[in-house]
Amino acid sequence: MVSEKMKELGSKRSVIRDLFEYGKLKASEVGEENVYDFSLGNPSVPAPKSVEETITKLIKETEPTLLHGYTSAQGDALVRKTLADNLKKRFDAPINENLMYMTCGAAASLTITLHALAEKDDEFIAFTPFFPEYRVFVEGTGSKLVCVDTVDGSFQIDGEAFEKAITKNTKGVIVNTPNNPSGVVLNEESANTIVEILEKKQKEYSHPIFLITDEPYRELIYSDVKNPCFLNLYNNTVLCYSYSKSLSLPGERIGYIAVSDKAENKADLYASVCGAGRVLGYVCAPSLMQRVVAACDGETGDLDAYRGNRDILYNALTEMGFECVYPDGAFYLFVKSPIPSAEEFSNKAKEYNLLIVPADSFGVKGYVRLSYCVATDMIKRSLPKFEELMKNYK
Ligand code: PLP
Repeated sequence: MVSEKMKELGSKRSVIRDLFEYGKLKASEVGEENVYDFSLGNPSVPAPKSVEETITKLIKETEPTLLHGYTSAQGDALVRKTLADNLKKRFDAPINENLMYMTCGAAASLTITLHALAEKDDEFIAFTPFFPEYRVFVEGTGSKLVCVDTVDGSFQIDGEAFEKAITKNTKGVIVNTPNNPSGVVLNEESANTIVEILEKKQKEYSHPIFLITDEPYRELIYSDVKNPCFLNLYNNTVLCYSYSKSLSLPGERIGYIAVSDKAENKADLYASVCGAGRVLGYVCAPSLMQRVVAACDGETGDLDAYRGNRDILYNALTEMGFECVYPDGAFYLFVKSPIPSAEEFSNKAKEYNLLIVPADSFGVKGYVRLSYCVATDMIKRSLPKFEELMKNYK
């Protein structure tokens, strides 16, 4: 009567959502101030002031049927031109407004791109750890997700493992830097390794292998490191972007796809992106928000707040003896569980009302993820609880 596959997906909550719901229930029992919820990646800093100012100005000055009306299916032409010009200026990258497609956030950017590329028997590679929805997005196209482990501890690219995983069926590779859940920014060596191997394998199999760069955290970097701009390194790149994190607008659902102006058969690839947008019903992204991001592109919320949270949490937890890769970006800490089972560790943490996500669904075992896009005060109040938790393992 209904699709069993869809029913299954819709009936199961992600482990992150489970923990979040548990937190709400617990808060009603013990009080909100006694629950330390590190589960969700919902930005805790408000959107920059310019977002509100732009919305007010647009509402005052734009004719309502235009402001709230349909735009072109692929997005307003002037918005795409403004964004393309900005991107060219900021990254000197091969961007063309006629190869851009406005979307409802990174999830839409990724699902459209994957549907645009996927054919029978195709495989897509993701490096561990990865955003768990990649599995749903890839398998939703009928393709296979192939997971490739990174170097344990640093989570940089393991070239040998990557090369071994590529087959004649590999259609694309998803990279996410800065990374959810590790906070790692891929270094130059990792970026070059990915590109060299892809160039070699494209030649060997005589067909393009696309690099899908999932970059919702592109601007969220707190250290003196540079995020690789793959559009400048590899021709067959499709950039999937979202303003959910950079402008703190996750509920407004706005982002874009940019097919490289140097991609092979770029016109066909872009036509396929437009076709996938139609099939999935992702046409004409929110009209007001398209205009807002065109005005505010490149800005961010208060990064100092995230940097401060990272420093407090990273310094305190490592001092207590927890092991954790230094997170240069995004707003997550990826902490090694002191026992083999991350689930057991997360359950133990629950006894102290600490909500931390076991990371098995991120493709690596034995780690938990903590989101530090939360109130600084909550982080500070949680530290004695982490100390008590750690005592169980000393
Ligand atoms: N990709 C990654 C790595 C994410 O962390 C997220 C959201 O947390 C998404 C994609 C989806 O982003 P959006 O809310 O813009 O759809």
